[in-house]
Amino acid sequence: MAKIAPQNIDYRNRARRNLERARGQLNSNDDERLPYAVLELRFAMEAITYDRAQAFKDDLPYEEYSTWQPRKLVAVLAGIDPSIMKTSTLRIGIEDQPGVPSTNMEILGTEFVLTADDIKDHYDVLGGGLHIPTMAQFQKDKLPDPVILRARCDEIVSIIDRVLTSQVWNSTFNVSSHIDCFRCKTPMRRRLPHGVKTLKAVCFECKAEYAVKDEADGKVLWSPVVSEAPCANSDCTAKVSLWPDEIKPGTCWTCKECGVVSEISLNVGVKGAE
Ligand SMILES: [Zn+2]
Ligand SMILES: [Zn+2]
Repeated sequence: MAKIAPQNIDYRNRARRNLERARGQLNSNDDERLPYAVLELRFAMEAITYDRAQAFKDDLPYEEYSTWQPRKLVAVLAGIDPSIMKTSTLRIGIEDQPGVPSTNMEILGTEFVLTADDIKDHYDVLGGGLHIPTMAQFQKDKLPDPVILRARCDEIVSIIDRVLTSQVWNSTFNVSSHIDCFRCKTPMRRRLPHGVKTLKAVCFECKAEYAVKDEADGKVLWSPVVSEAPCANSDCTAKVSLWPDEIKPGTCWTCKECGVVSEISLNVGVKGAE
């Protein structure tokens, strides 16, 4: 089936409008209007996350990321390159000597992003402000404090404002490398952040794990993280490679050399016995 070419949606402007509406609700100083501010701020956080995902769409499986919730999306983005979800300053300069950073760097700007921690700290907690108090909360006289909710909203307004007024955004400088997953053939891409020599990559499709290593001269080595298992036939020396999620009772394979079918099972033995 042909893949749908994703078209970019102007989420950044959408987030700006959400932020403005949230400010309007907060400025009314009416506690009854707080849930509307909460809703707009959650929308803004979602819009910013989707905007970020669009910048990295070549690294993500569109069919999946197009429907993901922000928290999942942020986790996957951070998995591609942890620096994607961090605030960074871009500097540019001509190298005096090849390979040696310039001593005369010009700052292009700082990119403030909505970090994984921002989502973790605020997105779900904010969701609590969208519901009316439960009966139990009324009975125990434990109603949410509008002062606390308002303070949190103000804090998120300033975080979102800083992201949206960033001088640069969605910069995607990187060394990236790709392979087709050895197990399921799904294309995989991994970014190597500046200065990082080795990292882990996990296939979106089948969860196979790889160790990705920068071998210099533009070469990147992908090694599948597998364990060797012996054939159950004691007269046979053949071995198979198993992915970590295959090492569990019930996994079977047919030996290519002797034809015996081996199966992993749990055994109880006497400790220390041969
Ligand atoms: Zn795979
Ligand atoms: Zn065998």
